[in-house]
Amino acid sequence: MKKFKIFGNPLSHTLSPHMHNSAFKILNIDARYFTCELKDGSKIKEVFLSQNLSGANITVPFKEQVFTQCDEVRGIAKEIKAVNTIINQNGKIIGFNTDAPGFIISIKEFLPIKSALVLGAGGTAKAISCALKDKNIHVEILNRSQKRLKSFNEFKTYAWENFTPKQYDIIINTTSAGLSDENLPAPKELLTKTLMQANFAYDVIYHKKTPFLNLAHTLNITCKNGKDMLLYQGVLAFELFTNTKANQQTIDIMKLALDN
Ligand code: NDP
Repeated sequence: MKKFKIFGNPLSHTLSPHMHNSAFKILNIDARYFTCELKDGSKIKEVFLSQNLSGANITVPFKEQVFTQCDEVRGIAKEIKAVNTIINQNGKIIGFNTDAPGFIISIKEFLPIKSALVLGAGGTAKAISCALKDKNIHVEILNRSQKRLKSFNEFKTYAWENFTPKQYDIIINTTSAGLSDENLPAPKELLTKTLMQANFAYDVIYHKKTPFLNLAHTLNITCKNGKDMLLYQGVLAFELFTNTKANQQTIDIMKLALDN
């Protein structure tokens, strides 16, 4: 039996085991997917190899740390400098980022678009910004504070105090504002003026309707949450784990697992 894990902390709310185990079971794949909550992310390579895992997902707060532990990093993960999926190739750890292409698949009904404003400057903001840039979409970043904007030197960036609202096709919230509170990701007036000129609002948070999407909804903007991003990063990881192309049946199984 092949073994897979998700490394992160905390992991109490992760839906990944259910999503992958449902697909393994229904598709008769001899594999199981487990959680592994760690205090110290520097041990992930050691744990992965000593437990002879075939693959793993990496979530908050270890994606950047695992990037440095991979023997080889492929695709857009090199640009993002963060890895959320690893596979074991003959004892070598190969790292990928499926958050970025998963996000792009999740906005396919909004494409083509020309411009995006990304709210936040953390790891998810980096993955989404690089993914959009790779699709030749103009991206600007707006964050609460200056410090983290330093790692976005290929993009036009703003902190709240030096931002003037203007037109973007899509506004994407990647901050954790609204995750476990009722905060907006930026001051209300600034957000309202920006959203009023946009076509789409997207929030990577998926388990609730956030204050950001509620505000966009009242302004009659087409809204979407991060559930499909979660689904497609999982589908793309599943393809790497099983070395297969996921068909519609596999996608439907994984989607159903997220809905239940
Ligand atoms: P990080 O901790 O790396 O970044 C958080 C960002 O949010 C920072 O820019 C921070 O600003 C900003 N922020 C935090 N609180 C507030 C606030 N109250 N108001 C305004 N800005 C705030 O987080 P991640 O990028 O790892 O994750 C962000 C979100 O993405 C989480 O909600 C996570 O659950 C979600 N996510 C969803 C996925 C999906 O598949 N749908 C995949 C991955 C993540 P500052 O720099 O000023 O501190």
